[in-house]
Amino acid sequence: MEHSDQIKPFGKMIASENLKLERKKTTVLQVNVGYLCNQKCRHCHLEAGPARKEVMSLETMNKVIDYARQCNFMVIDVTGGAPEMVPYIDYLIDSLTPLAQRFMFRSNLSALGQKSREDLIYLLKEHQAVIIASMPSINEAQTDGQRGSGIFSKSISTLKKLNELGYGCEAAGLELNLVSNPSGAFLPQPQEQTEKRFRKVLKEKWGIVFNHLFSFANVPLGRFKKWLIESNNYSSYMNKLASSFNPCSIEGLMCRNTISVSWDGFLYDCDFNLAADLPMTGKKINVSSMRGLPKEGIPISVSDYCYTCTAGTGFT
Ligand code: SF4
Repeated sequence: MEHSDQIKPFGKMIASENLKLERKKTTVLQVNVGYLCNQKCRHCHLEAGPARKEVMSLETMNKVIDYARQCNFMVIDVTGGAPEMVPYIDYLIDSLTPLAQRFMFRSNLSALGQKSREDLIYLLKEHQAVIIASMPSINEAQTDGQRGSGIFSKSISTLKKLNELGYGCEAAGLELNLVSNPSGAFLPQPQEQTEKRFRKVLKEKWGIVFNHLFSFANVPLGRFKKWLIESNNYSSYMNKLASSFNPCSIEGLMCRNTISVSWDGFLYDCDFNLAADLPMTGKKINVSSMRGLPKEGIPISVSDYCYTCTAGTGFT
């Protein structure tokens, strides 16, 4: 596993703290339906974009649905790329929503706002899907710099549309959560502070409301890692992450209760390990050959980018 020579490898760090990163009961199924996206964000750990061809086939969708039927997950979380652009995504949503107590759909907002995908918003509403929308910043120039020209205004229009349908409004019971991340090689501001700022500015400028905001550090993988290396920031960023290691974050890490399926049906402990092609248990297992939930107590596959999840209050 790759590691920056200036920091202690992540696996050694947790061992030196007498900690173990092992699986607890798996309650979340995350389905990554592919790397095709209408945006090409600078921080994307999957290097998703309009030229990517990897999308989940109908055959793999059916294998995922069969697996979800066996396991009784509490949460099913669909992510991409831009899931909106994947053929048969409506079928996947229709099939997976009855199989979990909570169904989450991750969107970059601009793809969901496209005229051709208006029907998808109604489908998500019909299924009471929770929408997790990436919205790195409330600054237009910063957002467009990170995600592409015109993306900020498209995101604002989609948020308005979602609010019109009841998303983000307490009374309607339709949950709309935002995810923000820093624009460069630094850690995010405290989440509560960022949430307060977003709530105030979005409401005052555009009348937009939302339920919660999650603030995450960028993971040094994919396009973000390339940018860190090119801009000579890689070592200092890794040092920043490693020196913010918080042993208490290990308990709540998402990889301990999540199983992540890739667009081609292979199993990982999380979406970051998926991006790095570091499979669950170290060997590639297809969802079609998995019987039931992964065993509790099996070790999680780790690498140095795991420091992103354990920096400060952690990435849970
Ligand atoms: S990247 Fe984070 S979520 Fe994934 S295995 Fe490492 S610590 Fe767990």
